[in-house]
Amino acid sequence: MTTIIDGNEIGDQITDGVAACTDTLISEDVTPGLATVLMSDDGASETYVSMKQQACEEIGIEGFHHEINADEPAETLFSTIDELNGDPAVHGILVQMPVPDHVNKRDVLERIDPMKDVDGFHPENVGRLVAGNARYKPCTPHGIQKILAETGVETEGKDAVVVGRSDIVGKPMANLLIQYGTGGNATTTVCHSRTADLAEKTRNADIVIAAAGVPEMIDGSMLSEGTTVVDVGINRVDADTEKGYELVGDVEFESAKTKADAITPVPGGVGPLTIAMLMYNTAKAASLQSGIDITLP
Ligand code: NAD
Repeated sequence: MTTIIDGNEIGDQITDGVAACTDTLISEDVTPGLATVLMSDDGASETYVSMKQQACEEIGIEGFHHEINADEPAETLFSTIDELNGDPAVHGILVQMPVPDHVNKRDVLERIDPMKDVDGFHPENVGRLVAGNARYKPCTPHGIQKILAETGVETEGKDAVVVGRSDIVGKPMANLLIQYGTGGNATTTVCHSRTADLAEKTRNADIVIAAAGVPEMIDGSMLSEGTTVVDVGINRVDADTEKGYELVGDVEFESAKTKADAITPVPGGVGPLTIAMLMYNTAKAASLQSGIDITLP
């Protein structure tokens, strides 16, 4: 029997734990605050930001939201970040990516105070993660670690294949998998667009984590029996639906399911964890900045 991993259920458990942390902080007169900044007209980005703000509201984190016209100069975004860096009510800052082409993404990530960088993308936080001393683990890979742990999938000594080498998913995921300790100790291969024979790599994997952004590129023929499959992809493909599209992952679910021991669906797999881990990092940020201890889930 293949386990279809319920990301909503795992995400809800973590969110409950973070809500309890938030209550502890509020009882000590510290309300965790998360500021989101959107500089884009992209509909998907707007949806992601509003989902993050809604999650804040549900668990008692104070949400602050700033919108900047996509044609404004980069300086407008930088001065907004500077203000948020200096605002003691704001413990976490998230600039929704992608930013417009005339804004240098690296400059944005480096402008955010590393203590408030709840995405974990500032070079200081990336360095700490690689060094094995993470402050804020990036939300999607951290959520995947939680999924594997909750599903009872041991990573130690296993062969893991990460498909994709982006700064937000692929690279931090691989880094987490090779760390010492729980959720790590995996022998990890990172595949990408120049990988010569992807199927040969995925067929030899115990765990496949697909984060390429290519609709249904991994099918059952590329997997061995008993593999754990985590599908990070969220791809809009044309479909005869009210919206004119549907969401599919990077994995061809029906054929992959026949081989997998456990598999995440799209939607309802990794996505809910990404938001739950953002709430987790925001509570952690408030704890680190206030010195109040909390027990994170
Ligand atoms: P990205 O475009 O920044 O990176 C994609 C990576 O995949 C690149 O490193 C590229 O080398 C690799 N790649 C592309 N085509 C490939 C191929 N044919 N074979 C092997 N590797 C290939 O994307 P990203 O930001 O890492 O996101 C990946 C996917 O995950 C997207 O669909 C995105 O929407 C989704 N995503 C989902 C969540 C979530 O919460 N579920 C969070 C972040 C990203």
